[in-house]
Amino acid sequence: MNEKRLTWDQYFMLNAHLISMRSTCNRLNVGSVLVKNNRIISTGYNGGISGEDHCLDAGCYVEANHCLRCLHAEENAILQCALEGVSTRGSHIYVTHFPCVHCMKKILQAGITKIFYLEDYKNHEYCYHLLKVSNVEAIKMEGGIENFINDADLLSGHLKWQFR
Ligand SMILES: [Zn+2]
Ligand SMILES: [Zn+2]
Repeated sequence: MNEKRLTWDQYFMLNAHLISMRSTCNRLNVGSVLVKNNRIISTGYNGGISGEDHCLDAGCYVEANHCLRCLHAEENAILQCALEGVSTRGSHIYVTHFPCVHCMKKILQAGITKIFYLEDYKNHEYCYHLLKVSNVEAIKMEGGIENFINDADLLSGHLKWQFR
C-alpha cells in the first residue's frame, strides 16, 4: 500500500508550476499561488493587463531589459485579491522563481508572511535586506519540481508527468 502523499508545500508549488504554464510572456514563465490556512485564495502568472496584446502574439515590449507589458505573477495574484476584496494578510506565497525587488516590496507590504520559491532568479541582495526588516522567511524548496513529482514513492501508477 502506498501511503505517501504530496506535502502541502509540494501541492501548492505544483499548482504554481501549472499556473506558470498560462504565462503569456516569451521571456520567463512564472506562476504564483497565495495560500491562507491551506486554501488557495488567489493565483497569478506573468502577462499583460486584460484586453492587452499577449507578448506571445505581439512580441515583448522591451525597454531597459524589462518587458513593459507584463505584470509579474506575484503582482497578479495580489491584485486579484485587491479586485475581489480578499485580505492577503498572513497568507503565504508559492512562486516558481525568487521574486524581483518590485514584487518583494509588494509581497511584504501586502502582509504576506512566508515565501516559498523553486528557482533562484537574479536574487537581489536588497530583497534579503527587506526580508530581514520584515522578519519574513523566503524558503527555497530543494530538489526541483521534477524530483518531487517523479519521486518513485509518490507514483502509484495514476500519476505520470513528463517534464520537457
Ligand atoms: Zn513580455
Ligand atoms: Zn516581479
